[in-house]
Amino acid sequence: MTSIPRPPHAVVVPFPSQGHVNPLMHFAKLLAARGFFVTFINTDWMEQRIFKTPNDSAAVSNQLQEQGLQIRFLALPDGLPPDHGRVQAIYEYFQATQKLGPAMVRLLQSTANEAPPITCIVSSCFMSCTHQLATSLVLPRVVFWTFCTSAAIVFANCRMLLEKGYIPINVKEARRAENLITCLPGMIPPLRQTDLPTAFRVEDTADSTFQLMMYESEIQNKADYVLINAFEELEGPEAAEGLSKGYPALPIGPVFLPDFLQATKSSVSVATSLWEEDLDCLQWLQTKAPSSVLYVSFGSIVVMSMEQLHELALGLEASEQPFLWVLRPDISEGKATVLPEGFRERIGERGRIVQWAPQLKVLSHPSVGGFLTHNGWNSTLESISLGVPMIGWPLWAEQFLNGRFCKEIWRIGMDFESRVEDENALVSREEVEKVVRAMMEGPQGKELRKNVARLKEAATKAVMPGGSSYRNLDKFTSDMTARANSQFE
Ligand code: UDP
Repeated sequence: MTSIPRPPHAVVVPFPSQGHVNPLMHFAKLLAARGFFVTFINTDWMEQRIFKTPNDSAAVSNQLQEQGLQIRFLALPDGLPPDHGRVQAIYEYFQATQKLGPAMVRLLQSTANEAPPITCIVSSCFMSCTHQLATSLVLPRVVFWTFCTSAAIVFANCRMLLEKGYIPINVKEARRAENLITCLPGMIPPLRQTDLPTAFRVEDTADSTFQLMMYESEIQNKADYVLINAFEELEGPEAAEGLSKGYPALPIGPVFLPDFLQATKSSVSVATSLWEEDLDCLQWLQTKAPSSVLYVSFGSIVVMSMEQLHELALGLEASEQPFLWVLRPDISEGKATVLPEGFRERIGERGRIVQWAPQLKVLSHPSVGGFLTHNGWNSTLESISLGVPMIGWPLWAEQFLNGRFCKEIWRIGMDFESRVEDENALVSREEVEKVVRAMMEGPQGKELRKNVARLKEAATKAVMPGGSSYRNLDKFTSDMTARANSQFE
């Protein structure tokens, strides 16, 4: 007797930060829309931040179910005290996540009767405990890179960079040297040493964060399948092959876009924001002329000195351009931000400051004409997909690579000259004013807007039926469906 096949079941495990939970949740919805049963595993801390009250995850699950999407949410403690800084104390945070494997095994075993048999574990990069999880449960592990393909290739090949002497790095000297990295697989553009992620830009390779990131990066090569939140037209069709060690490596992004393009009033949107979104800013945007507003946001992790925030504020003021500025409550190195005296009064209705914005709605608003960004990959990809040119202000992780690609490879971004010389330099109000004016008023901004419009079209095509990401997602889902069916033979 043959049993009736049950849906493939993907267990999706994001690293517990905003930049991982967002794309993994979009991916979970894409899988559910293709008939998968999805288990989404958060830490308790993350679940409480995004769902606000403990029961909300069940309510969201029910609403999704009504639309035919089967996503259940599970959560487990991360082992840290409630007042721990989490991403702000990143080394300890990683150490805590590395210990979660056995608890995840127990969680899945104790809830096994609520769901079909598990087909695969989908893990965002840097969640090495999922290797232990997949090994214990004898399941394939799918690594989901939340970076562009080139950055993912850098992480995955850190040992090679070490062996060939590109690491350690003295950033100041590397800035002057023309020591291009051309040995990486995937035919990606030659990289400068200063394009490497900050965790690898160490002068002493005994550095504990470097060692930890080497471990986390290398374990991504022990995958059974690789998916990337990027699209082939951005970095070339060969790039993703650079991530394969004999298994498929497929760009399937931008994963937020299919849902975003098809969203109707009745679609269930799963809230994933760690802070409350200020929806009133959308009404404010309505009062502004097309392409006139500069959106300013540095994502969920990076911090800035008060002195720098003041220069930025005064530069935005001097630029005379409308702006929407996300000032996260903890952006000022954990202290309450005090803006220059009289700033808010002088700005009046020309500027709007919020603690967290509905970023996708903002970037897709016709009034927005530029994005001053830290070049986190999600923000960069969202800006590309929604056709907004960028002023890059990278600060951490692989943001420097993203910023350089925006400026020099894709020609959709500009940056601050003083930071090219010295990335720790204070950007003066005069420079902020000059660059903001060039983006919002000058011919350069116009040119970048034209270029990004072409990439927006390419991103849209990629996720539509027949497009590169759509086909790649088809391949992944049919491979996993075949695996699920074989479990019943
Ligand atoms: N984001 C948002 N509202 C904000 C700022 C950011 O919704 O006010 C979202 C943004 O759309 C993106 C994520 O937060 O999906 C930030 O991820 P990214 O990779 O850009 O940066 P990170 O926070 O990881 O540094």
